[in-house]
Amino acid sequence: NKNKRSLSTLTWTDCLDRINAHNNKVNAFVSVQDKSVLESDATQLGKGGPLKDMPIAIKDNFCTSALPTTCGSAMLKDFVSPYNATVVDLLHQAGAKLVGKTNMDEFGMGSANIFSNSGPVSNPWNYKANHTALDDASQIRVAGGSSGGSAAAVAMDMCAVALGSDTGGSVRLPAAYCGVVGYKPSYGQVSRNGLVAYANSLDTVGLLGHSVSDIASVYNVLSHHDEKDPTSMPADLRTRILDQEQDLASQWQDTKGGDLSGLRVGIPNEYYVQELSTEVLDTWRSGIKSLRDRGASIVPVSLPHTEYALPAYYIIALAEASSNLARFDGVRYGHRSDKGSSTDLIYADTRSEGFGSEVQRRILLGTHVLTAGTYESHFLPAQQARRLIMDDYNKVFLMKNDLGDDNKPSTATDQKVHVLLSPSSISTAPTLQKCLPDRSKDNSEGVVEAYVNDVMTVPASLAGLPAITLPFGRSPTNGYPIGLQLVSQYGYDRFLLDISDRIM
Ligand code: GLN
Repeated sequence: NKNKRSLSTLTWTDCLDRINAHNNKVNAFVSVQDKSVLESDATQLGKGGPLKDMPIAIKDNFCTSALPTTCGSAMLKDFVSPYNATVVDLLHQAGAKLVGKTNMDEFGMGSANIFSNSGPVSNPWNYKANHTALDDASQIRVAGGSSGGSAAAVAMDMCAVALGSDTGGSVRLPAAYCGVVGYKPSYGQVSRNGLVAYANSLDTVGLLGHSVSDIASVYNVLSHHDEKDPTSMPADLRTRILDQEQDLASQWQDTKGGDLSGLRVGIPNEYYVQELSTEVLDTWRSGIKSLRDRGASIVPVSLPHTEYALPAYYIIALAEASSNLARFDGVRYGHRSDKGSSTDLIYADTRSEGFGSEVQRRILLGTHVLTAGTYESHFLPAQQARRLIMDDYNKVFLMKNDLGDDNKPSTATDQKVHVLLSPSSISTAPTLQKCLPDRSKDNSEGVVEAYVNDVMTVPASLAGLPAITLPFGRSPTNGYPIGLQLVSQYGYDRFLLDISDRIM
């Protein structure tokens, strides 16, 4: 499989050359590290480290002291962090070369990477052989969001692996649209210290790459307890799950290569949504068939509360965002309006000037769901739905949720599974034209309609589960990539990566 090629041949100097040559059309990077800095001893610490000289790109919502951290926002246009995110320090220490910061939807809010102060990211497949897209601007497709810059950077070989953040699908969705692997670890596996918060209870640090093994080698460097992140998974829980994973892995020790016998793969009925395009459905079917052909048992399963995931997500995420983004007030960080004459006006003008339309819409919605009355009618039911969604998953997985579920015996063991297989997106990458809000009319309806693109990815986010997009084919009609998603039980990240590696 060509996706499995090793990128050991891709050097950081190749990457800088490719960024210089192609970034003007793809717009994946918002800042690029100087060659001289990368040459110098910035990574001296990591000499001989496990990621020695690996070219890695960082989404622009991870704090870096060497390059600005804009979060795709005018609010932080000139912001340089005084410190590095924990993951950035870990990459440095392991010897990686951090080639630059990647474009994103403002503060991570979006699915198409069109809401960036640095402009949209263009899908690399717009430029690949057999495409006529370039000649016809209306056919230009988006890279997906919000980690669109990271996905495009990988697809363009501008880095070997890229860091993204995934709150509700922001790594898995652009990975599917750009034909790369995109992995969201379990909540709490990788430190969020220094990742600018969108929705704390959902935010995770994700990874994008061409191969699962490249991603796994970076994940091994990043996955540690961090006392600077109060939600970081404690060391004893990590050890406990690792033991269970090793037991599980021993079942496959003797099976070779792509043989999947013994693996139980669940197909969730509720993911056959009306919005699913035929080509994605066909890819899902052929994915199921290929796993069955390789010995996996295919088990239809039901996750009955899936339909509540999208509304629950957009209530919880926006409520948390409205609180998180209160810190951008013109006093402590970034942009400050020079119009206002009173403190209140400085706050108001700063926020009107600094935040884009989508971020403002979400802050308003998030504030609304937290007000008296709406809190009871929207916010609390959303939290209840989240609990039901977690219970749905716990009922279908063979492995126990170590965060303490009682694994109600309502599902017979022969109905339970190790992983779930679904699409990652409802369609291939949409065109830029389709995604851009129509400025000639009030288009908030269209913008809200766009939230449906996240329907495949938000359930696993609400439950904090590990999930990965694997490229599974290309559309026979437009040639753009299609990805499928594997989800596993909370904490079983290494197991999921191992199975994914066998599958690719
Ligand atoms: N598209 C989703 C949203 O806009 C997910 C974003 C993300 O995962 N950061 O909230």
